[in-house]
Amino acid sequence: TDPVLEVRDLVKHYPVRTGLLRRSTGAVKAVDGVSLSLDGGRTLGLVGESGSGKSTLARVLVGIEKPTSGAVLVDGVDVSRLSRAGRKQLRRDVQMVFQDPYTSLNPRMSVGEIVGEPFAIHGIDPAGGRRTAVGELLELVGLDPDHTSRYPHQFSGGQRQRVGIARALALRPKILVCDEPVSALDVSVQGQVINLLEDLQAELGLSYLFVAHDLGVVRHIAHDVAVMYLGRIVEQGPESEVYDGAQHPYTQALLSAVPVPDPSIRLAAPSLAEPSPSGSVTVGGGAIVLEGDPPSPVDPPSGCPFHTRCWLAPTLPEARTAPSADRPETGLRLIPAVCETERPALVVRDGTGSDAGSHVAACHFARELVAPRVEA
Ligand code: SF4
Ligand code: MG
Repeated sequence: TDPVLEVRDLVKHYPVRTGLLRRSTGAVKAVDGVSLSLDGGRTLGLVGESGSGKSTLARVLVGIEKPTSGAVLVDGVDVSRLSRAGRKQLRRDVQMVFQDPYTSLNPRMSVGEIVGEPFAIHGIDPAGGRRTAVGELLELVGLDPDHTSRYPHQFSGGQRQRVGIARALALRPKILVCDEPVSALDVSVQGQVINLLEDLQAELGLSYLFVAHDLGVVRHIAHDVAVMYLGRIVEQGPESEVYDGAQHPYTQALLSAVPVPDPSIRLAAPSLAEPSPSGSVTVGGGAIVLEGDPPSPVDPPSGCPFHTRCWLAPTLPEARTAPSADRPETGLRLIPAVCETERPALVVRDGTGSDAGSHVAACHFARELVAPRVEA
């Protein structure tokens, strides 16, 4: 099947003033060359730490932000090549569900106005009239259609997120970009919203780009997973391939610290792993702890962007033959020179599953990695 959404070499840089006196100009390289594709009726999970560029990518995809370069294709059509009117039309197909239902709904608007707003913005009169359409949308997301005159503060967090989803569905989009849609909600409510999204997908054939930092939730909902680090995809593939056979040391570190999934979520597949008594998954005897915060996206590391935090690089045999002790950002750690000088491409690595060909990782030494051994 042809992808409903495709991203080709997308870049989003924001100009900033840098230096002690803020006299030089630089750029926050929020998204630095990302390619993705999303098939109809599927969910692509996008994971990574905060600051990895996930939200920026999401905002570019729904048209809130313009890309610096690269292309976004909806149903094979390059959005940037369209006229204003054409773009508006196409944009109806891609809608966003925001992270925080407490701040993303206008408190002065009734729920009926909020959910019906896209009709007003796009000048659309739905069949049966706006009132009926709004009632149907509320029903679709499990809310009482008679509550259109209520205000957001009269709803719980989970209900507000349902309102946000109803609004996103008003224009009958094909694609929902969900940016951390459940992370502001109580754990007990998260499962209900995830289950709703799954039901809606089955019913309406929707495709989701599901942005989240919670790997347990992503494993549950996503068919495919992309892992982002410093504005780039470092690993991507079918959910089972990535979770059971992670090849990039960054993904392995993320997975080693996955919390226990919410038990109220219906689990179609077995959960990631049995939790250890401490609640984290053990990899080779313990969670991999990444030192320090991610480097600044204004001045990302040379070569492999993960080299300043990579736990694998200093353990490789190549590390001893090519020491580089004089780099301040790596301190005394000895890592292979290639990690500091060459940006690893996102390429197919060894795999054993039937989908192995679509499992890619951006690490010079990914082939030599052993998948995390998850122990109970
Ligand atoms: Fe680590 Fe080197 Fe692989 Fe980057 S290329 S992830 S620094 S081993
Ligand atoms: Mg974010």
